[in-house]
Amino acid sequence: MIQSTAINNSLTTLNITEFDRDRFDQSVMQTYGRFPIAIDKGEGCRLWDTEGKEYLDFVAGIATCTLGHAHPALIKAVTEQIKKLHHVSNLYYIPEQGQLAEWLVNHSCMDKVFFCNSGAEANEAAIKLVRKYAHTYLDKVENPIILTAKASFHGRTLATVTATGQEKYQKGFGPLMPGFAYVPYNDITAVENAITDLDEGTLSRVVGIMIEPLQGEGGVRPGDLEYFLKLRKICDENSILLVFDEVQVGIGRSGKLWGYENLGIEPDILTSAKGLAGGIPIGAMLCKQSCAAFEPGNHASTFGGNPFACAAALAVLQTLTEENILQNVQQRGEQLRVRLRAIAKKYPHLFTEVRGWGLINGLELRSDIDLTSIQVVKAAMDKGLLLAPAGAKVLRFVPPLVVSAVEIEQAVTILEQVIIQNQFN
Ligand SMILES: *Cc1c(COP(=O)(O)O)cnc(C)c1O
Repeated sequence: MIQSTAINNSLTTLNITEFDRDRFDQSVMQTYGRFPIAIDKGEGCRLWDTEGKEYLDFVAGIATCTLGHAHPALIKAVTEQIKKLHHVSNLYYIPEQGQLAEWLVNHSCMDKVFFCNSGAEANEAAIKLVRKYAHTYLDKVENPIILTAKASFHGRTLATVTATGQEKYQKGFGPLMPGFAYVPYNDITAVENAITDLDEGTLSRVVGIMIEPLQGEGGVRPGDLEYFLKLRKICDENSILLVFDEVQVGIGRSGKLWGYENLGIEPDILTSAKGLAGGIPIGAMLCKQSCAAFEPGNHASTFGGNPFACAAALAVLQTLTEENILQNVQQRGEQLRVRLRAIAKKYPHLFTEVRGWGLINGLELRSDIDLTSIQVVKAAMDKGLLLAPAGAKVLRFVPPLVVSAVEIEQAVTILEQVIIQNQFN
């Protein structure tokens, strides 16, 4: 007791410039492999750590800080909203929530929106909706199955970690949620076979396919156009709901507002989170009227769609539109891919290929060398460039969508210095 009081008292005088990692680790549960810096402040695409070192931020809080850091429009919106009203619960009507839902419906192929607070929660809502739809509208389905892709990522709750087609995230948490099966990504024959193999009459069959239009965490792997066209057709023919997890690729990151616009088809259900409120926690599950099977009492969230988060999202979306940021995403994305491809070509003993849409891009390391993405990310961090790994072999570039041409050049220049100075091989 005496000790904890001492710590509490000293907290008030804690000097952030003398950040103590050991002390942090004493009380924060160690669920993350953190890089050894502590971030103190940010502006635009720049961050500063507690020692005053400056970084070019090509992580953006993991594809989340859409407008970068300390953007005036976001500051204004959240400041005004918190002075007025920040939370009341969904016992009452929330005007900002209505406004945000209307914006999303008017700017997508969807008709209805449910709000929550994260990507995993949005996917949980989608999984529940698919099951509810199956139990309500499909004849006698007792065991509805949702197909997901291998190397996918859908979140860390029990249902979404089961949906995630990667054993490393599931190990140690069994028994997993029943009702999921996995197929390789971009492989239509595998989907056809799975639907046939899993069909045990009406009792047990595939009723949903949950998939990312571009796999993010799984290695920045864009969806194949022809595959998704056929997937849509298979879903239509078999009364299967197509769910797009757009938690990472939605909200302009792909160069279009939504990931599905890159594939020429529409999903039935779509989830969004990361970039939606530019770094203020929010999640959303959108669906078409034809599958809006929830009734009052079926699903809920205390914080979901509160005035504060909705005001932030509205400011992000308004700024995206008014400042023509999607065009910047397309141009800067193209610039980055051209420069990264040149690097991949110049150092073929290290890299294989560059993949991506808009401002979500991956540079893949050769599989036949020992070098991992984490090693390169650490070396780049030393030189003042923040990158994120996407699996063991892919470097992920997801800067704020407002990144400038000069900043793209700077990032690539730093990356090349890192390659030369570390003599990776
Ligand atoms: C990040 C992510 C999630 C999980 O989002 P959380 O907010 O961390 O729960 C789900 N799906 C995809 C595609 C993601 O990138």
